[in-house]
Amino acid sequence: MKIARFVPLAEPASPARFGVLEEGLLRELAGGLFDPPAFTGRCFGLADVRLLAPVEPRHIIGIGKNFAAPGEPKPPVPDMPILFFKPLGTAVGPGDPIVLPDSISRVKFESEVAVVIGRTARRIRPEEADGVIFGCTVANDVSALDLFHPEGHWTIGKACDTFCPLGPVIDTAFDWRSARIRASVNGVPKQDGAMADIIMPIDRLIACISGFMTLMPGDVILTGTPAGADWVGAGDVVTCAVDGLGELTNPVAAPA
Ligand code: MG
Repeated sequence: MKIARFVPLAEPASPARFGVLEEGLLRELAGGLFDPPAFTGRCFGLADVRLLAPVEPRHIIGIGKNFAAPGEPKPPVPDMPILFFKPLGTAVGPGDPIVLPDSISRVKFESEVAVVIGRTARRIRPEEADGVIFGCTVANDVSALDLFHPEGHWTIGKACDTFCPLGPVIDTAFDWRSARIRASVNGVPKQDGAMADIIMPIDRLIACISGFMTLMPGDVILTGTPAGADWVGAGDVVTCAVDGLGELTNPVAAPA
């Protein structure tokens, strides 16, 4: 099931709602993302809606340096991954601008598989991880490296408003193990990596994170980006894509 969150263009002031994408049409759901699916009977064409980030995250948890460089042996799985949080104001949807922070002219995009947690989970074993994943979507983990602190803290550079485009859909049946992750800028390919190159796999990430914090429905884990993440500036258009999961395109805009 591929689930989108949207507002009909004809009803721009109406509340966001969820829909299941089937053959190019969104079948409107009566309830929330984690409710048993019940349809209202209304359908919308994709051209007739504004897509939003498919989940309103509860936490956004990022993982750094989690893919092996091409041509190099994969390093051992670390006991402790590099982990950071992005504030909820980073989450935007397909087509929304990535707005550069004041005095920053360039940022890096990172195309990633984002895991959406579907149930409360604590001390999950890797073999149990699939049972707590609601689905996957595409994320762009935008980073202002010029705002990384010289002592190594990434927080500000990962945290700026609009720095986490998500979407276009959550696929509840996506097989993350075979994901192929791509990105392009202005149509020029930049990233093309395989989940096989991930250092700490998603099931082990969930085990690790749930070992120190309770995961809750709506938590989003950005699982890391393959080689090729590159600089972009105002006027560029970034497309992050995961084969079979979707394409997420966002323009980069000058500071508001
Ligand atoms: Mg990242």
